[in-house]
Amino acid sequence: MPVPMSPPLHPGTKQPADPEFLSALFPMSLIMQEMSPERWIEIPEPVREIYRLWRPTPMFRAVRLEKALGTPAHIYYKYEGVSPAGSHKPNTAVAQAFYNKEAGTKALTTETGAGQWGSALSMACKFFGLDLEVYMVRVSYDSKPYRRYIMESFGAQVYPSPSTNTEYGRGVLAADPHSNGSLGIAISEAVIAAASSGGAKKYSLGSVLGHVLMHQTVIGLEALEQMEMAGEYPDMVIGCTGGGSNFAGFCYPFLHQNLTKGHKTRIIAVEPAACPSLTKGRFAYDYGDTAAMAPIVKMFTLGHTFMPPGIHAGGLRYHGMAPSLSALVDGGYIEARAVMQRPTFAAALEFAASEGILPAPEAAHAVRAAIDEALLCKRDNVKKVIAFNLCGHGHFDMAAYDAYHTGKLQDYEYPAAAVNEAMTHLPQVDFA
Ligand SMILES: *Cc1c(COP(=O)(O)O)cnc(C)c1O
Repeated sequence: MPVPMSPPLHPGTKQPADPEFLSALFPMSLIMQEMSPERWIEIPEPVREIYRLWRPTPMFRAVRLEKALGTPAHIYYKYEGVSPAGSHKPNTAVAQAFYNKEAGTKALTTETGAGQWGSALSMACKFFGLDLEVYMVRVSYDSKPYRRYIMESFGAQVYPSPSTNTEYGRGVLAADPHSNGSLGIAISEAVIAAASSGGAKKYSLGSVLGHVLMHQTVIGLEALEQMEMAGEYPDMVIGCTGGGSNFAGFCYPFLHQNLTKGHKTRIIAVEPAACPSLTKGRFAYDYGDTAAMAPIVKMFTLGHTFMPPGIHAGGLRYHGMAPSLSALVDGGYIEARAVMQRPTFAAALEFAASEGILPAPEAAHAVRAAIDEALLCKRDNVKKVIAFNLCGHGHFDMAAYDAYHTGKLQDYEYPAAAVNEAMTHLPQVDFA
């Protein structure tokens, strides 16, 4: 890291969290990876053996899209939608299940929004013989059942959150029996379920944490070799950001080249205008969850009590952002921009019309930025090489496309008042 990292803090004492506190949630091997000073951590053979089901993932040059846009730019995309779950998420799900199995964990708990993370982790747990308890945001549990059926097919127990399993969930239900739930509430329930299990269960998170981002770097390491095969090197690399894992996985290996080999690749993070942590949030210590049970980390945040509007890229509705990515944006190593929903879906359809793949609504944010950059190249008549991460397909999110086609999808502006309110609830800590 070219910038210093601030340590995660214990949510109670607000002092640097010791490994003992974290070990109630994670196996020691993953805690050690979290802040490892090692440059390289080998991918274990049992993980590689499973990766071989879909890795290496293909990298395509979008020649037909370039022609359709009439741009001199060369556009490449790395396609993570070929994984069994249809996104990049199995890259870390498989690794986390492996390290937990190795440490003697019997069961994992986790949360899921629309079900992308839950379906990836349920497959990984099945492969390694671990039980899995998933807290699924209530509104998705009811309205998006197909990913729940996938999780159940792999043997996971799926509970709508808020649930009656935890005291916290029961409290939320007592206050509002018809609560829609939120990702923050579901994270709190999954954390509590693991922390109160007496060591039998550990917790697993699909984004944000350092070890998760590190597991995803297999994407960018492959992409570096694939660009070499293509005989080109990107002038810019682009990814969408929810918690930061697919973005970091694709872009950090290129950032490493910038820092060590003198490359000047622009690295661009794209987020929804309705949940703009990197472009409108504050770089400050905040809780990772709504119930203030999870570690406090320094990150770009909209406030842990902020409730993002119900945008269709559900995977991008987190109040915070990975601490390493936040520090790199703050340090000027990575650019960030926000895009509106409707132009994002328009870009997704433009991409599909040439390349035949309907992107996940999250991935469509990266497509929007890539097309915008390609159009700037056309205007200025310059040939640049643009590479982006197509982190998943949209086959389980077709209701979002229906909403776009039927004109029901709205553009949400930056919810300034709600964010300002949430900012008043940031924890007071003594660390800068
Ligand atoms: C979960 C998900 C995201 C958001 O998570 P990141 O950690 O920011 O990558 C983005 N795209 C897809 C397809 C997802 O499933």
